[in-house]
Amino acid sequence: MTQTNLPPRKDITQEQWLEEGRQLFGNDMKQWKFVCPNCGNVQTSQDFRDRGIDPNGKVFYSCIGRFSNRLERGTIGDNKSPCDYTLGGLFVFSSKFVEGTPVFEYYTGDNPTPVGNA
Ligand SMILES: [Zn+2]
Repeated sequence: MTQTNLPPRKDITQEQWLEEGRQLFGNDMKQWKFVCPNCGNVQTSQDFRDRGIDPNGKVFYSCIGRFSNRLERGTIGDNKSPCDYTLGGLFVFSSKFVEGTPVFEYYTGDNPTPVGNA
């Protein structure tokens, strides 16, 4: 079993979450940065669009590697980034929940060590 050092679960409203994003990154949500809790990949909606992937429901929930060639992406515990991690799987490596749904943390430059690199 993978050990994690997740902080206690934090439940917030969608409005609180969006306000936090605006405070960190401004009004252009395409530039908001999210960090994959497994591999540490930092991703934006724009990164998804640049690869022809619809970012809706993905940018804060699944690592962009999930939508890449299987041979090139990492998975849980192998230290490769980006990876195939999603919060919709068996292991929820997030302590932030918006309206009951887990989300990736915003990238702040001071994020905890990713689980896959621990
Ligand atoms: Zn990842």
